[in-house]
This record gives sequence, C-alpha cells and structure tokens, in this order.
Amino acid sequence: MKTFHIVTIFPEAVTPYAEASILGRAQKKKLAKIIAHDLREYADNKHRKVDDSPYGGGAGMVMGVQAFDRAVKKVRGKSRKSKIRVVLTSASGKRFTQADAKRLSEYDTLIFLCGRYEGVDHRVEEFVADEALSIGDYVLTGGELPALVMIDAIVRLIPGVLGNVETLAEESHGDDGLLEYPQYTKPEVYKKEEGVGWKVPEVLLSGDHKAIRKWRIEHMKKEA
Ligand code: SAM
Repeated sequence: MKTFHIVTIFPEAVTPYAEASILGRAQKKKLAKIIAHDLREYADNKHRKVDDSPYGGGAGMVMGVQAFDRAVKKVRGKSRKSKIRVVLTSASGKRFTQADAKRLSEYDTLIFLCGRYEGVDHRVEEFVADEALSIGDYVLTGGELPALVMIDAIVRLIPGVLGNVETLAEESHGDDGLLEYPQYTKPEVYKKEEGVGWKVPEVLLSGDHKAIRKWRIEHMKKEA
C-alpha cells in the first residue's frame, strides 16, 4: 500500500476530497492511504505559530522551516523501511507532468508540504524537501489543491485502482505524445426535437472496429 502524507495548516480542507470517489475507493481497498497532518501540531512554540515576517522586509508572512522539518522527521521515522520522497508544493517549482506522476508512483511513501501566505522559508526546499513541484503557471492561495492534484494523478496509476486497466493505455499524456481521441456516449443524436441535432460521428456507430480504430488514431492530437 502506498501512503501519501499531506502536511498543511488546513487538514480539514483535504480530507473530504481524499475520501470521495476513486481516492476514497483506493483507500477502502487498501491500495492507498492518504493522511492529512496539521502543521501546527509540529510548531515549536505554545501558540502553534508556524509563520513569521520575512527577513529583508516585504509584504505578508512566510511559513517557517521548523514545523515542516519536525513533521517530515516524524513521518520519516515512522516509515523508515519504505522508499520515501518529500515534495514541496511551490508556484516556482518544476511543472508537474504525467511523467512525474509515473515517477512518483514508484515510491512507497510520499510527503507533500503545503505552503500558505507569501510562501515557505527557502530552507524547506533546500534541506527538507527532495523536490519542489508546481501544478501550473498561476498562483493559488495554498498548496492543498496542488497536493491533491498530484496525489490524484498518482493514485490512479496504482494497479487495481481503476476498474479497467485499458483505461490507462490510451489516455492523454502517455508515452506516445498523443492526446486522447474524442469520446461519445448515448444518445446518438442530442437535441433532435429542437432541430439542432448534435450527432455522434457515424463511424463510431458502425461496429467496424478497423474503421473505428482508424478514426480514433486520426483524431488523436499531438501534445503541444
Ligand atoms: N509568493 C509565492 C510566489 O510568488 O511564488 C506564492 C505563494 S502562494 C500564495 C502560497 C502557497 O501556495 C505556496 O507556498 C505553494 O505551497 C502553494 N502554491 C501556490 N500556487 C501553486 C502552484 N501553481 N503549484 C504548486 N503550489 C502552489
């Protein structure tokens, strides 16, 4: 079983998503375990304060290195036998891709560190985390959604999580550099009565598997 730890000041924000749908099912099937840790419990002061003003001046607060370091140390101590990777969520990190999801799915234990406010003391990236990853070129208010995005992409790669293994075979962002072909389901024609008629391409209704395959290949776009 793979274990995902999310270190955050808002554990209550990540748990509902981690318990729903495929992530929830993966946890019930004991293929994955997602644990949210309250960063404040690792604060080194009785006020549970985990942020402070930035050295050199500037707006806002920066999350300190201490609580993150203590949280990671605790999790590392409890998962000593497993292959562990610590990921800092960061808007300035390397862009997370499907290849990263695949690479990270090789680890037994993943620890995601979530920043807030103006960000995180750089020593977390330098000394505590193994890498810093961004989910895209925009700034979010915190690292919780990025952590969940990455965990979601990784969990669905764990054998047994998706019902049908073929689901993964022809998906977008695979090794072939192609994006998935358009998919359709019932009805064959939508809005027929209104005279608009949004139709499913004929070939997909033909039952001719060779022709369907050809159409699908023709409609797979190249990744940008
Ligand atoms: N001042 C930082 C900057 O300009 O890069 C942004 C800090 S952001 C408001 C607070 C936290 O949200 C970050 O420390 C990071 O954990 C998370 N975050 C925001 N955008 C992100 C993104 N695109 N990918 C990953 N994490 C992100």
